[in-house]
Amino acid sequence: MMQHENHALPSRPAPTNLLSLTEEGLDRLLQPFGWPRYRTGQILRWLYQRRARSIAQMTDLSQNDREQLAEVATISRTQDCAVLESTDHTRKLLLTLDDALRIETVLIPDEDRLTLCVSTQVGCMLDCGFCLTGTMGLKRNLKAHEIVDQVLTSQDHLTGTERLTNLVFMGMGEPLANIDALSTSIHCLTNKSWGLGWSPRRITVSTAGLAARLKDVAALGVNLAISLNGTTEEQRQQLMPAASQIASLKTLMAACRRYPLAPTRRLTFEYVLLAGVNDRAEDAHRLVKLLKGLRCKVNLIPFNEFPGNPFRRPTDRNVFAFQAVLTHGGIDAFIRKSRGRDVLGACGQLGNLSPEYAGRALTQIEPRC
Ligand code: SAH
Repeated sequence: MMQHENHALPSRPAPTNLLSLTEEGLDRLLQPFGWPRYRTGQILRWLYQRRARSIAQMTDLSQNDREQLAEVATISRTQDCAVLESTDHTRKLLLTLDDALRIETVLIPDEDRLTLCVSTQVGCMLDCGFCLTGTMGLKRNLKAHEIVDQVLTSQDHLTGTERLTNLVFMGMGEPLANIDALSTSIHCLTNKSWGLGWSPRRITVSTAGLAARLKDVAALGVNLAISLNGTTEEQRQQLMPAASQIASLKTLMAACRRYPLAPTRRLTFEYVLLAGVNDRAEDAHRLVKLLKGLRCKVNLIPFNEFPGNPFRRPTDRNVFAFQAVLTHGGIDAFIRKSRGRDVLGACGQLGNLSPEYAGRALTQIEPRC
């Protein structure tokens, strides 16, 4: 009998995760309460500026209001995380999502900078031959709040004097293949009234070359990096087959030339150096030609090796020689230091903890949440 009565009860809708709402969405959720409009900003500030993990913490709302809010809403952050710390102090955070999928985000300290490398997808639909994330395929897009959560959780892990200085969307996935969530997350990160107040100048979005979407990055006001990695159609087809199917090198370079670059900004081109494949003098000379007249700089990334991948890292000598050709050609070229390689936290190493690394990693895993 009791059982029968229980069945007759109308089921209560699952509480809404406050982090999943836009400002307008939160307005709508609060509307039935008839609260003053400033409550929306107050609640958003608790979520993003104070990183509240429960509604009970929102002490500038009355006890009554908090209880009312808790009837319909909750705060659901990534629950479980572990930290892998590299000998160079790069820290890789492993975050577990609601559906038990895992993503990675990497904190990279360097002199006066502390850069966070953020993921936008679980896995990646692209198949760049030099990238570990590509081997796992695309599991799903991240939601905007799962992108922002990487920043919030990283902040929870900072020590007393540390402060994030730069955000790069260069973790797992192709940011421009998840443009809606990317845009929403960047609005939240840059909102000064209730959000994290980031200057868009300190944020960089990196793409494997989704040419048609470059203009969407311009609209966000953040910096754009293009992973070029090859200087001929054939090279890009060989190294980045899916990306070069989406846009040829010719189409990509045309989109870069059309890009509405603000007067004080420049584009970044990233170039993974693969020994004997794209690191020869002729490649460097072609790169100079390709970039002629573009306001840009080049980041050279010596290949980070991972088990089972045939590509090799060039010698330092070859890396410097490549850089010298660019410099002589009038292009600013920087060599990206590889950070966190021992915990598979460097460029292109996110996504799979191979058995070879797992043993070592386990001794370094530090459960923190
Ligand atoms: N999909 C985006 C962002 C993720 S990759 C993009 O392609 O830009 C981030 C950077 O790491 C890219 O420039 C990519 O070319 C580089 N990269 C990928 N695998 C690498 C590896 N094994 N070693 C060094 N750099 C790598």
